[in-house]
Amino acid sequence: MKNRSYYEELGVQPDATAEQIKSAYRRLAKKYHPDLNSGDRLAEDRFKRISEAYRILSDPTQRRAFHEKERVRAKSKAASQKQSSESFFDYFKSAWKTGFGSYTAEQTANVPRRGKDLKITLEIDELELARGIKKRVMIKRDGPCSVCGGTGRKPGSSPVQCKICLGIGEVPTSKQGKTVFVTCTNCKGKGFIVRERCLQCGGKGIARGKIPLTIDVPAGTKADEVMTIKAQGNIGTGGTAAGNLKVMIVSTQNNYFAPRGDDLIYDYAINLKELLTGGEIEVPTPDEKIKLSIQPGLKQGKILKVKGKGLLNSNGLHGDLLVRISYHLPEKITPRASELIDELISLKGWSPKKDRKGFIKKSTNDH
Ligand SMILES: [Zn+2]
Ligand SMILES: [Zn+2]
Repeated sequence: MKNRSYYEELGVQPDATAEQIKSAYRRLAKKYHPDLNSGDRLAEDRFKRISEAYRILSDPTQRRAFHEKERVRAKSKAASQKQSSESFFDYFKSAWKTGFGSYTAEQTANVPRRGKDLKITLEIDELELARGIKKRVMIKRDGPCSVCGGTGRKPGSSPVQCKICLGIGEVPTSKQGKTVFVTCTNCKGKGFIVRERCLQCGGKGIARGKIPLTIDVPAGTKADEVMTIKAQGNIGTGGTAAGNLKVMIVSTQNNYFAPRGDDLIYDYAINLKELLTGGEIEVPTPDEKIKLSIQPGLKQGKILKVKGKGLLNSNGLHGDLLVRISYHLPEKITPRASELIDELISLKGWSPKKDRKGFIKKSTNDH
């Protein structure tokens, strides 16, 4: 016995209520009951088919399974040409035409939509970009409504199964002579109808909100690169997929280091005392502070190399930290500073020896 005939057997519409199915069965069962049609093989057969149709259609689970089966059958390419599917479709189509006006595959404007992609710009300094970083950001996006949890229903109320698609969310229609299933417009693909809407979101199940998100920017990500993070955009309607989050990377300069290949350059300006006496200076590395001993009399541009404190390269080795020395001199000599300098150079050994004429005699080592 073919499934397609269940509704036809009972002479009811596919969206018939349980009561309509029951009364149709009662009426037909009385008419074709074997007791009233003794010896009539045709009536006996009809009675069997009516009973079978009623057995399936009166049980919501079986009725739904029957629709689902038909949907799968229509979707499979081989089965799409089968008579049974076509007839099933024709039957549905006529029911919808009479009940809801014409229903075609093109009428899908109001169906669920995948969530929109979102775009954000993420500023990352060049050092973090080279080393890789996990950035925590706040994203403004459409997410599930916090009151109804995204169902669109008033909390505590129950959804009602869609009587058109019987909870499947799709209905058969014809496209170029083939039966295809399209989103049910009655329930917008949800398979159920919301009778009492959530007051917070008006039944959409969606609310705009700010959510924290940790974005993992891998080492070696380039400036102006656009990363795509799947399904972190706006959520879709009707249970469809969320959009993606596109993250545009913008590189900013690091406050301390200038990357040079795997090495990092750090500029250190020594003051007068450090120039004259040397000593210990403190410099940053990407991870910590370290102390370096310096000799007196360092030349400008001198590079002090700190091994292995640069960037990790693709061979798994670290470059170096290069501390580049410059001199720090005051922009302006105040009267007080001038006094101190006068005092300093008046000390023994702070000024070159001059003869009576006021000149500096040439060094005996020079030629
Ligand atoms: Zn809501
Ligand atoms: Zn539906």
